[in-house]
Amino acid sequence: MLVVMKAHATQEEIQAVCEHIAQLGFRAHPLPGAQRTAIGITGNQGEVDRGNLESLSGVAEVIRVSKAYKLASRDVKEEDTVVSFPGTSAAIGGRSLAVIAGPCSVESREQALAIAEQVAAAGAQFFRGGAYKPRTSPYAFQGLGLEALRILADVREKFGLRIVTEALDTETLETVAEWSDVVQIGARNMQNFSLLRKAGRLRKPVLIKRGMSATLEEFLMAAEYVMSEGNYQVILCERGVRTFSDHARNTLDLSIIPALRHVSHLPILVDPSHGTGRRDSVLPMARAAVAAGADGLMVEVHNHPESALSDGPQSIYPAQFASMMDEIERIAPIVGRNLARNAPAITAAGVK
Ligand code: PEP
Ligand code: MN
Repeated sequence: MLVVMKAHATQEEIQAVCEHIAQLGFRAHPLPGAQRTAIGITGNQGEVDRGNLESLSGVAEVIRVSKAYKLASRDVKEEDTVVSFPGTSAAIGGRSLAVIAGPCSVESREQALAIAEQVAAAGAQFFRGGAYKPRTSPYAFQGLGLEALRILADVREKFGLRIVTEALDTETLETVAEWSDVVQIGARNMQNFSLLRKAGRLRKPVLIKRGMSATLEEFLMAAEYVMSEGNYQVILCERGVRTFSDHARNTLDLSIIPALRHVSHLPILVDPSHGTGRRDSVLPMARAAVAAGADGLMVEVHNHPESALSDGPQSIYPAQFASMMDEIERIAPIVGRNLARNAPAITAAGVK
């Protein structure tokens, strides 16, 4: 159910409706929009008695949301969600494209700082790097853990980049959240419902990667898990799905961009690195993602991909990343966008 407030409803009226919903034993989710505030109701098994709600002051109407996902749906919030980062000009969603770049894994301080310097110089505003890695083999590099989180904090400090890193399990989620600006939930965890719920209790943006065989509805239900706990700062990321195609690691499903955009207000990023698994495919698919209306990209960049501890074959060189930035900057205006570049001038001494 959704309570749509009148355009000029006051904060007190909104608060009173939320309290009424809580008294009924349900959860109220006030979502302010440009025109009016809508209040999503969750926790109800069946219909909520709309009679009482409709008579409350400031209420325009009460609507049933028929889709399985509610808070993630455009029925609840018409305007696109923009996730912003207080104290910075960085944002994910809206007119400016957001670019997250960096290695698959943080391997050492030298490696992370060297790559960060180059992606920042090319204009990335966000740095990625795994500290806790979901690896198919238990014998493969599992990430440097807390040491990597400390290195990522240095990257933020030195280059003014926002940090995106994956939380692998409920045990490490809070630590990851403490050290990062965006908590990534990986494809393998997209339906780890206890992890999603716990991420919903954070007050920090959560980036959810699409599961390898997830439908659009399953993808949005993962977002719904996070939002149902009161965390509305959710970012979706298409990273390819498994198909019969064997020319690439995954099949990057760019057609999900307009499909998601149609039904959801959440920002949508594309990861052409995991989406293809091939360095030579990253640039063409990055261009295509921007042309198809993505809100930004997540790209793996490595200074020595031939010796990377994970995902070397799909990691592009810093110089290729710089070309990618120039190219998407030229494509962006055609689709009504611009590229937000890292503003601070980088010097050897750090951010000026
Ligand atoms: C990653 O971003 O390094 C990663 C493991 O991604 P995914 O969960 O999409 O496989
Ligand atoms: Mn990777």
